Amino acid sequence: NPKEAKQIRILEQITSKFHLTDAHLMHIEKRMLDEVNRGLGKATNRTANVKSFVTYVHEIPSGRESGQYLALDLGGTNFRVILVELEAGSRSVKMKACKHEVSQKLMLGPGEDLFDFMTGCLVEFMKDHDLHGRKYHLGFTFSFPTRQRQLDRAELTHWTKGYKNAGVEGQDVVTLLKRSINKRPELDIQVEAILNDTTGCLLACAYKRPECAIGIILGTGTNASYVEDMNHVELYEGPRPRGCKSVVINTEWGAFGNTGSLDIIRTRYDHDMDSNSLNPGKQVYEKLISGMYLGELTRYILVHAIELGILFDGEAQTLLSVPGGFPTKYISEIEADPTRSTFTNIKQVMLELDISVATDFDLQVVRYICECVSTRAAYLAGAGVASLINKVARRRVTVGMDGSLYKFHPHLDRRMRSATRRLVSDCIQFEMVLSEDGSGRGAALAAAVAEKQR
Ligand code: ADP
Repeated sequence: NPKEAKQIRILEQITSKFHLTDAHLMHIEKRMLDEVNRGLGKATNRTANVKSFVTYVHEIPSGRESGQYLALDLGGTNFRVILVELEAGSRSVKMKACKHEVSQKLMLGPGEDLFDFMTGCLVEFMKDHDLHGRKYHLGFTFSFPTRQRQLDRAELTHWTKGYKNAGVEGQDVVTLLKRSINKRPELDIQVEAILNDTTGCLLACAYKRPECAIGIILGTGTNASYVEDMNHVELYEGPRPRGCKSVVINTEWGAFGNTGSLDIIRTRYDHDMDSNSLNPGKQVYEKLISGMYLGELTRYILVHAIELGILFDGEAQTLLSVPGGFPTKYISEIEADPTRSTFTNIKQVMLELDISVATDFDLQVVRYICECVSTRAAYLAGAGVASLINKVARRRVTVGMDGSLYKFHPHLDRRMRSATRRLVSDCIQFEMVLSEDGSGRGAALAAAVAEKQR
């Protein structure tokens, strides 16, 4: 059919830049490694995009920890309060958690309200689980870029992922949390450690698998932590604990590309979405990869395809025209249809989007666009992981993974692994494993380790 042939040609033109070659991936793997190293260097850190923050987490839990520990986990769409019970020698964790959605209002209001909200949830949780009446040690997972000064001191450098609370940037978030906790006399809480979700993911995974040295999050945002040799960390502040050979580095790799190193692969859609975001020019790698952005990016392409007349007969679609109108979960649902000519899930998505007239050809175009966006994301994430595996340079390494995008996208894991495999030496064996709810468990584990060291 000549009309469809022409439409396919146009579709190929607008999506051609999404297909990354091995040469692109090798280039990106190398640039990421350079950037992580620049972040670690004293002379280069100030101008580095990837800040490679020191976490002051030296100890991977030994398995001998025991007792009940609390964790708070703030990092995106949801906030959680967690109680973890550790039993020495078992390497298994009993966990109770309560999840609360963080409203837009809370994300954009005064910082004090956000911290009081978290403390309020903690009080309620402790009441529900009958925990009052004794002292608890707590780990705080705070998944935004912070400059850490000690295990329990970290200043927020800047908000990401849609948060913009006033009065928090530049402040030590542990002090803000303690201030809020101190307003509630019924609480007896010692805040032991602050970490981000990737470090939590790493610790939780390492608790079960000691060869784990990397933690990756692919959720609202993306980030990575890994175990680094202390000799490579020039920016370590304060005395170096005796006998500690390594420390966990929180790369904040979402900022990779902020000064143009990814521009060779960015498309007009990436640029358009970026200009309309809360943080233009920032978190460039994250915007190519993570859950907050992939659906939106897809939406930009779909809208352009409609304008070009190659989709839905050129008919504008109301719901698709609205920012946020194509959530990332649609990509997972559409790609979960077993073949490109199975239309079960995609028809459901069309129904939800109020698109009543869609031909089979339209549905194939939509699916193809989703695949372009999500495959590029998987390959880019895979290249990032390869940089860290090459950096860690062990014969066997486990990568702990978490985040809804990783968990729910039907092909992301496989595509990511195939990209990583092509970029690391054959003599390195690696595995990527889901470390579910690692961020909260990891914070509780960090609190347990810190309490023992006191
Ligand atoms: P967070 O990173 O905020 O702690 P999650 O790991 O749950 O929490 O990630 C939330 C992000 O995951 C959202 O941006 C959302 O778009 C995306 N997401 C949720 N469900 C799915 C899904 N089924 N497939 C792909 N992405 C999803």
